[in-house]
Formats: sequence, C-alpha cells, structure tokens
Amino acid sequence: MRLSSRYFKFEVEGWKFKDECDDLGYRSVLLDISKQSSLQKIQNQALAGIYIHIPFCKQACSYCDFHFSTNQSMRKKLVNAICIEMKLRKAETNEPIASIYFGGGSPSILSDDEMQQIFDALHANFDLSQVQEITLETNPDDHSLQQLQFWKSLGVNRLSIGIQSFIDRDLILMNRAHSAQHAELCVQQAREAGFESLTIDLIYGVPNQSFEEWQSNVHKAIALNTDHVSAYCLTVEEKTALHHQVKKGIITDKSDEEIEQEYLFLHHAFAKAGLAHYEISNYAREGKTAFHNSSYWSGKIYLGFGPSAHSFDGKNTRRWNIAHNIKYAQAIASDKRYFETETLNANDKLNEQLMTSLRTAVGFKHFALDAETQKLVLDQLNAMPQHLKDCVWKNDTHFGIHPENWLLADAIIREVMV
Ligand code: SF4
Repeated sequence: MRLSSRYFKFEVEGWKFKDECDDLGYRSVLLDISKQSSLQKIQNQALAGIYIHIPFCKQACSYCDFHFSTNQSMRKKLVNAICIEMKLRKAETNEPIASIYFGGGSPSILSDDEMQQIFDALHANFDLSQVQEITLETNPDDHSLQQLQFWKSLGVNRLSIGIQSFIDRDLILMNRAHSAQHAELCVQQAREAGFESLTIDLIYGVPNQSFEEWQSNVHKAIALNTDHVSAYCLTVEEKTALHHQVKKGIITDKSDEEIEQEYLFLHHAFAKAGLAHYEISNYAREGKTAFHNSSYWSGKIYLGFGPSAHSFDGKNTRRWNIAHNIKYAQAIASDKRYFETETLNANDKLNEQLMTSLRTAVGFKHFALDAETQKLVLDQLNAMPQHLKDCVWKNDTHFGIHPENWLLADAIIREVMV
C-alpha cells in the first residue's frame, strides 16, 4: 500500500514553513545519513530491481485508489500469470537483481503455496545471487507467526507494515481491516520471527484526528523503535469512498495549516529520535534507508510484474501493465499485448530527475549536466520568486530543498523544470 501525496495544496503564494530545524540539530542528522544513504551507494552500481504487484485486499480502505480487488477468486490465475510474465521478460536484464519489492494491494494475503510459486519463478528466471533487500508489504492482521517465519525462510529480509494509526477510531474512518492492537502485536511477532529490518507506514492529515492524537501516534511509532518509517499525507482521491464522504459533508478534510503543523511535528520528533528525513515521505536510522526505493530515485533499471506494475529500462523507456486483473491474466495466457510504453526524450529524463531528486536529501546533481543545460536550470532556480528561493540550498555540485519545505516541492520543481 502506498499513498500519493497532496503537496499540490501547498502552493499558495508566500506560504512557507517556519525554519525551526537548526535548534533541534536536525540538519546534522540529515547530513550524516546523506553521506551513506542507499541512494548514494547505489548510484554507481549496475544492479536491477524487481517490483511485484499483488492486486488483492481483504477490504477496501476508504482513501485508496490503487489497483486492487477484494474478490479473491482470481488469485490463483493471477499468480500463474505473474510467474509467466517473469519468464516472458527475463531477457530484459542481464544485471543481477539487487532488490525485490512485493507491493499491492496486499501481498501478505497470499497463501504459502502462492508465495513459494512466485519465489520459484524469481529464482528460475533471474540472478538473485546479489540481492540485498527483499521487502514485503503486510497489513498488521494478515498473517500468523508461522507465516512470518515462512516468508523469512524464502529470503524476505524487510517487512513494511501498514499501521497508519494507533487509534481505532482513525482505522475505522479509513476502513482499515485491522485494529490498533494488531499493529503493535504485528511488530512484536515480526521481531520474534527474526526480522531485523522493519518499516512502518503512518498517515497524517486524518480527518477528525486532533493534533494531540497525532502527537501520540508519532510517539507510539518512535517507541516501536523500527529503523525506518514512511509517513504519507492522506489525500482525498476522486472515486474513493472518502471523496464521496467529503463531498457529502460527512467528513471534513484537514486544512493546509493543520497538515503543516502535523508534518513539522513529525519530522522534528523523528529527528530527535534519530530518524533522519531522507526523502519527502521517508525517515530512517543511519544506514537504513530503503534500498529499493533509492533505486527508483536514481534511475536504475527495474522490472514490474503484475497488473498495473510499472517498469523502466534504465535508459529511456517506461512501460506499465494494464490495471485490470482479468484482462491482464487473459492477455498473458493468450500471448496478447498487456502493457503500454513511453519513450522519454532528454528533457523528459531531466525533468524526472528533478522531480525525484528534489524530494530527497541528496538533492539534484547539477554539476553532471552539460554546460548549457546547467546554466538553463540554474538560471531558472535564480529566477524563482524569493519565497521559493528561501526554501532551496545549493553548493558546487548539488541543489535541493530544505526538508522543512518539502511540502512546497511541487511548486519549486515546476519553476526549474525544462
Ligand atoms: S490495504 Fe487498503 S490502502 Fe492498501 S492497497 Fe489495499 S485497499 Fe489500498
């Protein structure tokens, strides 16, 4: 499960965060982690990543617009199709695989046999001898201790646990299938099963949640002492149950000011707890940044399998599979086309780099551009309105956005795009 962000709301002229970070020693934590982040470590490695989309969930969360189905009847067919897709596409990379990410949907909903089948296909079709990270997204109520141990035995070494909130009322509002108690138990069980690398998801901007309740959520997350946390702002996406509730006036969406307050509290509290804010939605202890996501942000090749999964060839071609379970499985079975492609030109690639790198602590590597393009980008940076310039740092090699201003990233990126 991943949420899109709603940073577009923070583009009001003159709107800007207060700069309180230096008082908390935040920037020094950030610099330490940047020096050795996965993002920097992998930039010179020719390794590939794999993403596997499992498009099934137990129930539909009210805010979710990802591709999933609560109808489980297609599961066996879908797993077969995903394994066939791996075989069909194995020639797309000769690089050893560095990371595998099971997302969705809810990969934790798969039976042991289905999970084994996918791992067998991975081993049969790809070189996994250099895999460093295998992450599996799980909902707190989707598994037993035995299942966790089984995933561990397959090679999964990182769990991403969709906690979202430690308050039952919030979980009911979001129509999550688990309770607050499940969340804490899940982390305990994961440790019992031997998982050292754990990341949890939190959501801020939850309607009807007070600031004090958000503070309590952040403190509970810190108390769990995981080495990584992802925190997303709840976005009211069209065609979701939440959108309907907001439109009807049943639920009131949070204001930008409330979101700002929660965001700043989150990253100050995490900084104090040693969790550095290394990407707009991600926090990690030293050396524990997510390897797989860092591959995306640094433009490495990745292969996405399953309906709606996206791929990138590491050069200039993106592709994405059809976001429809039946059509995907039928097309794979009958050897028909099940994906679309897009070729990126030099400007598209540069803009993508700007969009991803300016959301990270490392920032954008302007020194690597040819002289003409570097001048164009830096001129645009200098020509930005002052309130946006105040949000940016720059040195001889890179420029970036101060993390306390990352909610303005969309507005800044639009100014510097070519
Ligand atoms: S668990 Fe909820 S948020 Fe995650 S993919 Fe399923 S419906 Fe969406």
